[in-house]
Amino acid sequence: MGKPFVWSYSNLTSFELCPKKHYHEKIAKDVFQKTNDIQNYGKEAHKHFENRMVKNKPLPMDLQHHEKTLALLYNIPGKGLPEQKLALNGSFEPTGFFDSDVWCRGIVDYAKVKEGTNELLVADWKFGRMQPGFDQIELMMAMMTSYMPELTEYTGIYYWAKDKKITKTTLSVKEIPDVWSKFLPRVGHMEDSIVAGEFPAKRNFLCRKHCPVTKCPFHAE
Ligand code: SF4
Repeated sequence: MGKPFVWSYSNLTSFELCPKKHYHEKIAKDVFQKTNDIQNYGKEAHKHFENRMVKNKPLPMDLQHHEKTLALLYNIPGKGLPEQKLALNGSFEPTGFFDSDVWCRGIVDYAKVKEGTNELLVADWKFGRMQPGFDQIELMMAMMTSYMPELTEYTGIYYWAKDKKITKTTLSVKEIPDVWSKFLPRVGHMEDSIVAGEFPAKRNFLCRKHCPVTKCPFHAE
């Protein structure tokens, strides 16, 4: 029996960028992508943000310029929920992150139920280049509705650390089915490809310098 299908936002977007690269890195695991200094710095900074929001631990000097933004979120009255591991089964019900029925996984960097409201704030720290769209945060908000069905309003925030900018979107609970409707065909396509064992190479900006699949005909093109 094959492994049950489980997806996350990062898995889905990795597959969509190039199914072949995704297969070698995440399924066959026969290639390994080394992380670069910028990625390592982002990972470390992420941990410092987490410590700031979980334990109110001061940021190190090179990250202190983010304090104002983090304090703003931290001080909003309400119940803060840092680093939440979310997992849903195929019926959109919460389950354990590694349970046998898990279908979709996600991690929320910081969430807060605003005091005296039915509103949830969901924040995601970004350490890369600014990107358009709100797909990922919308998915996190949709997943959170399964945990907190009593909430009716959702605000999603990306904090782009390099640019020190916030981008924001809002959703009402009535719009959550639209989020799932956007994701389900994408996820269905990924699942079908995995079941069929079809992972075509898809040329993209990584081919030239940043893909570890050296045997691909498009590598370094
Ligand atoms: S070289 Fe390009 S097309 Fe080939 S696997 Fe890597 S990312 Fe995909």
